[in-house]
Amino acid sequence: MRTLLFLLSFATLATSSVAQDGLKIYISADMEGLTGVVTGEQLGPSGFEYDRFRQIMTDEVNATIEAAREAGATEFLVSDSHGNGQNLLIEQLPEDVMIVRSWPRELGMMHGIDESFDGVIFIGYHASTSNSAGVRAHTKSSANVTDLQLNGVHVSEGAWNAAIAGHFGVPVIMVSGGDAAVEEVMRVVGDMEGAVVKFNHGFHSATTLTPAAGLKVIRKKTRAAIDRIDDFEPFVLDGPPVVRLSLKHYQPVELLAYLRDVERVDSHSIRYEAGDMIDASMFIQFVLSYSVSITP
Ligand SMILES: [Zn+2]
Repeated sequence: MRTLLFLLSFATLATSSVAQDGLKIYISADMEGLTGVVTGEQLGPSGFEYDRFRQIMTDEVNATIEAAREAGATEFLVSDSHGNGQNLLIEQLPEDVMIVRSWPRELGMMHGIDESFDGVIFIGYHASTSNSAGVRAHTKSSANVTDLQLNGVHVSEGAWNAAIAGHFGVPVIMVSGGDAAVEEVMRVVGDMEGAVVKFNHGFHSATTLTPAAGLKVIRKKTRAAIDRIDDFEPFVLDGPPVVRLSLKHYQPVELLAYLRDVERVDSHSIRYEAGDMIDASMFIQFVLSYSVSITP
């Protein structure tokens, strides 16, 4: 009987979450895929609900940090990866967490990632511009980008960012967002935990969980991801990245093709063979951020 009890308690220990030790986690947080976001009203300083959704974004990041800590993570870097890059209410984050803010940055939504991290978590992510489903589906710039491909595959921001993490050998372990966004990231990148916080009906409509219920799903999936962190593979491309970018307007494409390394493949698209994902990221950041009239 004593042996049986011992075996039973051992089995319980083995199946309940076994705390991982000293993991370092990178969190990239966007807003379109937050619980409740359906239009621009939640997404920028001119929207009537923006302040409330800065709080919801902050709550979702804090819930991720808490759940990851419970499962054994000890170090965090958080990227404020939406709009002006100044959305998170940073005074509400734990004091041992660092935050990457504002733009431009060479690695965009992944700035600060390196080989020392054990896993990446995406919060509030959205579907790509080539996805016909998904709230606020776009890639990098809804005003200017109509398609982004890596080695012939349409990529969302999630897949693009997973490839940057993959360059450093770091896997994406969890993504939160609407159903279309989570499905798209997992389809291209592979196995990870997915926290679905809303179900889309169109570009500006979804049925959403309440913020409290969204936090529960995020906590649960974060814990599950850390518990089986050894299952996830870094997203590594076959060969050097070939970037194909399609823009809404004609003239940027015409001018980019003046550069010897850039090939114009049709009226609105360019192709760039990058050396690696760092180069690919810096190229895209440059193309989408540069203007000769930038000040100062
Ligand atoms: Zn965003």
